[in-house]
Amino acid sequence: MSATLMDGKAVAARMTAEIASDAAAFQHATGVVPHLVAVLVGDDPASAVYVRNKQKACEKAGLKSTLHRLPTETPEADLLRTVEQLNANSEVHGILVQLPLPKHICEQVILDAVVAHKDVDCFHPHNVGLLVQGRPRFLPCTPAGCQRLLAEYKIETAGAHAVVLGRSEIVGKPMAMLLVQRGAVADATVTICHSRTRELASIVRQADIVIAAIGKPRFVTADMVKPGAVVIDVGINREGDKLVGDVDFEPVSQIASAITPVPGGVGPMTIATLLRNTLTAAQLFAG
Ligand code: NDP
Repeated sequence: MSATLMDGKAVAARMTAEIASDAAAFQHATGVVPHLVAVLVGDDPASAVYVRNKQKACEKAGLKSTLHRLPTETPEADLLRTVEQLNANSEVHGILVQLPLPKHICEQVILDAVVAHKDVDCFHPHNVGLLVQGRPRFLPCTPAGCQRLLAEYKIETAGAHAVVLGRSEIVGKPMAMLLVQRGAVADATVTICHSRTRELASIVRQADIVIAAIGKPRFVTADMVKPGAVVIDVGINREGDKLVGDVDFEPVSQIASAITPVPGGVGPMTIATLLRNTLTAAQLFAG
């Protein structure tokens, strides 16, 4: 492997330590302990692991976390009521509804119901609007985690061609939006690709920075990557009991100048950003 390994686990640990110190200072000044509530509906094992990891990370940073577990068959109206109660609870600063929700529940309805100043996932239209305008209240967790990795490894983004694979609301679109803003670790020329993109491989080959977020194991192969490109792999795919990304890691790491591993790359950065957003939410509440 010739590429630099972008170690998300190590960077996230540093971020968590920073957040712990900021949260302690905040608590000292205000008496408030930032409190994240995770709502988990159903018994999807992967979702349960994600929520547990987020709770463990909260503990490490000195934030309070509470889990609301609801059965799969919970009616949409009951889940809405839970969200409204959390919105109204002044001891709750951040609300996280773990996705995916069971099929009978409309995710959009639930996510829109989370009040904007507790929306630590940055999904609310108000928060997305602020992000698009370059004055975010909260940072989109996974994209901001990728951006922080670019910053930590001193990757030049100004004027670089960044190709984002995927156009989801959670990763692709906000990732493109962060990179196209004016300012540090941004100012990139951004192309977004999706399942209807023509000549996708030739577009990816033009990229100085590739962000892969499509959910297809090893989709980005070595022949699609320009020598020296930086490759960020957001994908989490299960192959048996192994996790693999959207990038064919071994061959691509021979060609790229820097690359994130899966696991241990973007995943921990996503969680660290969620903690930062929870502290921000508590600070907004106190202020
Ligand atoms: P979605 O399924 O919501 O979106 C996938 C996107 O990829 C869509 O825009 C889709 O296009 C596009 N796509 C799918 N197949 C192709 C293809 N063959 N060629 C080009 N584009 C394609 O996924 P998410 O954005 O939620 O997640 C993407 C991956 O990232 C998943 O593996 C997920 O597990 C992982 N993930 C990891 C996180 C982390 O913290 N590391 C956090 C969130 C997600 P179209 O819109 O046309 O359908």
